[in-house]
Amino acid sequence: MAKIEIAAEAGMCFGVARALDLAEKAAHEVEGPVKTLGPLIHNPKVVSELEAEGVGVAASPRQAQGSTLIIRAHGVVPEAVEEAKAAGVHVVDATCPYVQKVHHLAEQLSRDGYTVLVLGERGHAEVEGTLGHAPGALVVNSAADVRQAYESMKLSRRVGIVVQTTQTKARLQEVVSELVPLVEELRVYNTICEATERRQKAAAELASRADAMVVIGGRNSANTTHLAEICSDRCPRTYHIEDVSELEGSWLAGASTIGIAAGASTPQKQIDAVRARIEELAGK
Ligand code: SF4
Repeated sequence: MAKIEIAAEAGMCFGVARALDLAEKAAHEVEGPVKTLGPLIHNPKVVSELEAEGVGVAASPRQAQGSTLIIRAHGVVPEAVEEAKAAGVHVVDATCPYVQKVHHLAEQLSRDGYTVLVLGERGHAEVEGTLGHAPGALVVNSAADVRQAYESMKLSRRVGIVVQTTQTKARLQEVVSELVPLVEELRVYNTICEATERRQKAAAELASRADAMVVIGGRNSANTTHLAEICSDRCPRTYHIEDVSELEGSWLAGASTIGIAAGASTPQKQIDAVRARIEELAGK
């Protein structure tokens, strides 16, 4: 009989679960339409379930006129909230408190006259939101980016760093080491959220022992895709699925240990459904 194991840390993180709760609560308690600014999370199944509960998606604050608008866990630029409020939209801010902390620190550094560096992925919603809180801030993602900013005279003598919550400590270390000899004063706020790292470590540990791995989460979810890559490196029979209906019995044939990992936007009920289906397929 195959052994089925779920990674020690899997599924929704605190910030995403909180955003989903706020959206569901609004759907049941608020009068009038409820919309999220962009898809609430990178999980198409959850987004379509929310739609069935009456929570739609608005592409811009203007499109939410006459609605209650939920701000996503990743946060947005302050102008988006201002624009919504100016249009008479009722705003429910579901920005993860850890992301809010990054915004506050970036604002504070900017007010105190530091050149603000946001260590993160250019174009990512969370990074764009943080940039909006510190006008003139620069995005860096490597030692080379720091060097380039220095050579093009974009760094003042006082530099402050905040970090996109999903970045790695190794990347922060690389950027800080590059900066130390270049500036007079350096203030570093390590705003990395451990939720992502804990899920990656747990998935890696399980994948290194499993004969087959199933990773659950949106294909548009960067953290789930990364989990699937980590698992593939350790377990060649790794399958990334969005929905239980995608599971195929042949994937699990002959496997003695079948592992399950799930990204930070995957709800527990999706994990439970996949586990139950694997039990059926594996003949348990
Ligand atoms: S990964 Fe961390 S920072 Fe991001 S939403 Fe989840 S709890 Fe918040």
